[in-house]
Amino acid sequence: MENKVCFLSIDVEHDYGEKNKEFQGIERLKEILGVLQKHEVPATLFITGKALEQYSSTIKELENNYEIASHSYSHVFWNKLNTSERREELEKFINVYQDIFKKLPRGFRAPSHIIDEDGLRLLEEKGFLYDSSIVPHYPPFKDYRGYKKKGPLVPYYPNIKDIRKKGEMKILEIPVAGQIFGIPIAGVWLAKIPFFVLKSLFKIKKPNFITINMHSWDILDTPFRKSYAANFFKNLDQILNLLKKQNYKFLSGEEIYELFSKNRK
Ligand SMILES: [Zn+2]
Repeated sequence: MENKVCFLSIDVEHDYGEKNKEFQGIERLKEILGVLQKHEVPATLFITGKALEQYSSTIKELENNYEIASHSYSHVFWNKLNTSERREELEKFINVYQDIFKKLPRGFRAPSHIIDEDGLRLLEEKGFLYDSSIVPHYPPFKDYRGYKKKGPLVPYYPNIKDIRKKGEMKILEIPVAGQIFGIPIAGVWLAKIPFFVLKSLFKIKKPNFITINMHSWDILDTPFRKSYAANFFKNLDQILNLLKKQNYKFLSGEEIYELFSKNRK
């Protein structure tokens, strides 16, 4: 990559907690998108099939400004599903998606970042062009289910025998790469780390590639976090300013895919 690249993404799903059936975050999605609009940066929305069914017209309206990609149909973690159940998840998602957008989804992010060799092969089989699930660090919480072991910090074609290594697969992996020490630039961190800390991290290290990873529910209060939205918006605004000043180029998942597939030939 000639430029430093930032991949902005939002997982659009049920509100926080696996048993939660509400979608208040999606009802307020425009508030997060407002910050992105102010900075005129693209983003990719990884949406679940269930959310897409319920909010088809809201999401359809966003189609011209954002890439809409897949976050599975039901958000069941893939370590709980066998191959045919995973295939079914993808097929159900694709059906809903095609009904609305009259085309195939190109990108995928696994619920809770749980992806393996079988999962990537299935995505290839279903025509996905890229996946963005792998967290390539040993970050502060090693036990978190999505974190397995280290991987490349920039987009790469995975090895079919070990998807955390480079290889010859057709699908592109866009890793969820964070800051130094693997500190994620993700919703919770975005709101909780004071901006001066984020700023000093970028003084120490300016990664060539970084993923900002948010959720539709990031701005909602939960029992664990109160009055959360204000900080979230402020930090997001400031971090986008900072990245722009440092000449990061903002690309959607599809655009990153185009860039890499062009260079592969
Ligand atoms: Zn999710």
